[in-house]
Amino acid sequence: MDLMEKLTLLTGGAKYDAACTSSGADRSGPPGKGMGSAMAAGCCHSFAADGRCISLLKVLMTNVCIYDCQYCVNRRSNDVPRVTFTPEELAELTIQFYRRNYIEGLFLSSGVIHSPDVTMERMIRVLELLREKYAFYGYLHCKVIPGASKDLIRRAGQLADRLSVNIELPSERSLRLLCPDKTRQSVLGPMAQIQRDSGVNGHLCLPEHRGPGLLSAPRNSHELDSPGRTLSVSGHFSDKELSAGNGGNASGGWPRDGRTSGAGQATQMIIGATPESDFQILRLAQGLYHRYGLKRVFYSAYVPVTDNSLLPAPGTPPPLLREHRLYQADFLLRRYQFAAEELLSADAPNFHPYLDPKCDWALRHMDRFPLDVNRASREDLLRVPGVGPTSAARIVTARREGRLDTAALKRLGVVLKRAQYFLLTPDRPRGTGLNREGIVRALIDPGIFSFGMEQLSLFTALPAELPGAGDVRSLREAAEEATRALAAGF
Ligand code: SF4
Repeated sequence: MDLMEKLTLLTGGAKYDAACTSSGADRSGPPGKGMGSAMAAGCCHSFAADGRCISLLKVLMTNVCIYDCQYCVNRRSNDVPRVTFTPEELAELTIQFYRRNYIEGLFLSSGVIHSPDVTMERMIRVLELLREKYAFYGYLHCKVIPGASKDLIRRAGQLADRLSVNIELPSERSLRLLCPDKTRQSVLGPMAQIQRDSGVNGHLCLPEHRGPGLLSAPRNSHELDSPGRTLSVSGHFSDKELSAGNGGNASGGWPRDGRTSGAGQATQMIIGATPESDFQILRLAQGLYHRYGLKRVFYSAYVPVTDNSLLPAPGTPPPLLREHRLYQADFLLRRYQFAAEELLSADAPNFHPYLDPKCDWALRHMDRFPLDVNRASREDLLRVPGVGPTSAARIVTARREGRLDTAALKRLGVVLKRAQYFLLTPDRPRGTGLNREGIVRALIDPGIFSFGMEQLSLFTALPAELPGAGDVRSLREAAEEATRALAAGF
C-alpha cells in the first residue's frame, strides 16, 4: 500500500477525535534556525465547516488495535483494512505537508498496537524525529495511550506541546460496558502524571468542586500510580533518553526549557453514545478541571458508526445542539466562575434547547436582577447575559470616571441585546419594562433551528409535535408555543 493510501485510511480513522486545538503554545527556534515558530496569541489554527480543527495534520499512527471499544471504527472486532505508519514515514510526511503550507502542526493519535507501551514508543519516535532530526518547532499534540508507562508519558510530554488522554465516556459504568479493555485508573492515572510532570495545579478559577464526579476521582493523584510499573523493555529508549531534558538541555535537544507539555493537557468526552445527563457530564468536566488542571475538555457528539444494541442506531443524527450547549456551559465554568450545580441539578439535568445556559440561569434567578450597572460588583456583572469577563472589567474601570449609561455600555462591548433586561442605567432607571414572556421571547437563541428539529426533539421541554425543518410557518408556531411554555415555567 502506498503512502497516500495509508494516509487516507489513517486520517479517516482519526476524524472522530475532537480534542485538538493549537492555541496556547509559545515557542521560537534559535535565531536563523529551525522552523515552525509560533506564538500563543498567534492565529495558528482554523476550523472546517463541521467545526473540526484543520490546521493540524490529524492522523493515527496505526488503525490496528488490540482493544475493542464498541463505538470505535478501529476496534479489533471491526472488519476494516489495517495499516501502520513507520515513525520515519509519518515524520517525513508531516514535514512535507508543513513545507507545502498545508498544516501548522501535528495531532498524533493511534490504535493500540501490541501494547500501550509499544504504541507510545512509536509515537514518541515520531515526535523525536520531528524535533531533533527536522528541527521542527511547531505545534505537536500527542494522545497518551491509556495504560502506558510513566516514563514514556513523561518523554512524550517533553517533546509535545500538548498531551491528552481521552476519558471517552462520562461514567465508569459506561466505560466498563463499552470499553472492556480500559479502566478508570488507566485513563485517570496518566492525567495525574501529566499534571505532576508539568507542575500544573488544579484550575484555581473554578469554584470548589462539590462532591465527587460521576467517574469519581481519587482524593489525590498519588492514588493513581501503578505500583512497581517499570519502563518497557521492548523499545527504543534508554533511561537516559527518557529522562533527558529534565531541568533544561544545554545541547539544544528537547525539551528546550525543561517544561513538559507546555500547552497543557486536554481530554475528550463522547456525548450521546451513553445515557448520562448533561449534569453528569458537566460535573465530571468540573472535577477534571479542578483535580487535574486540564486546559480543555472537548465534547464530541457521537456519530453512530456501528450497529450495536448498546449504542444509538446508525443514521441517528449526532447531538450537535447538545454538544454546543455543553461547550457554552464549559466556558461558564472556566471563565465566569459558575459551578455545574448552579447551571443544572438532579431535577433539571439537561440544558435547555431554546436558551443558552447563562440566559437560562438568569431567567431562573430574576430575583437577583436588575442590577444597577454603576454599583454592582464585578462578580455580579459577570452573571449578566451579554456581559463577559472583558466588558465586566471595563465597566468597573470606566465607572470610576463617571456614571455609565446604555451608550457607554455599548462602547465597552456589552451585548445590550441580552444585557438590557438585567441592568439599570441612569437613562433607563426602570429597565426595559418588558414582562417575563417578553424577556424570554427576546432571549431565545436564534441559532437553534440551524441544528435541525431532530436535535430539538431530544428534549422534553418542547412541544410534543414538532414540525418538519422545511416548514417555516410551522417553525414559527413551534417557537411561539415553546416561548409561552418557557415563560410559564420561569
Ligand atoms: S483504544 Fe478503543 S477508541 Fe482507541 S483506537 Fe482502539 S478501539 Fe478505538
